[in-house]
Amino acid sequence: MSIATLSMSELLERAGLRLRGKRRADCVYCTGHSTATVSYTDEVAHCFRCQWKANTATIAKELGLVATDPESKRRRREEAREIAEYRKTIARFETWRDSLIGKYSTELRQLGRSAAIATEVLKKYPDCEPAWDALARYCHQEGELNRILDWLTCAKASPWLEEDSTILGLFQTWKKEIDEKR
Ligand SMILES: [Zn+2]
Repeated sequence: MSIATLSMSELLERAGLRLRGKRRADCVYCTGHSTATVSYTDEVAHCFRCQWKANTATIAKELGLVATDPESKRRRREEAREIAEYRKTIARFETWRDSLIGKYSTELRQLGRSAAIATEVLKKYPDCEPAWDALARYCHQEGELNRILDWLTCAKASPWLEEDSTILGLFQTWKKEIDEKR
């Protein structure tokens, strides 16, 4: 019998999906338990869990490619786990970066505001020590804060950085830091 004449349920079975009653099957692409997550018609099949989609033609094509032996299944699960792990790491990195950008932006804004007030005060009271202090603090820290912010945001042609930072460079710095803390 040629593949082209096989029905959807026959194709699914050949692809290693266990049929569950009418119009339902277990997914072989999902990791972990995935009982009856695939729903299918005569034409198309779709897994609600992993969003695997196929029609009779694509399954027929895949049949020659998708191995369903335990070792291949294990390898697919392993790959899916690695991808999930990688996504989690990226999310943690983004959280770290966003929180630092927020922190240093606020700091810079507050320093700038104090410096602006200090400038006004010094016009009237040139001997006001706290105003001189606020101004000095701003001048002293402005460069460093801008440098950090440009580094975190990968600003292009930053006057504060010797060379532009890259998101990959940032990621590696962050990764190294956490690995060392571990
Ligand atoms: Zn699935």
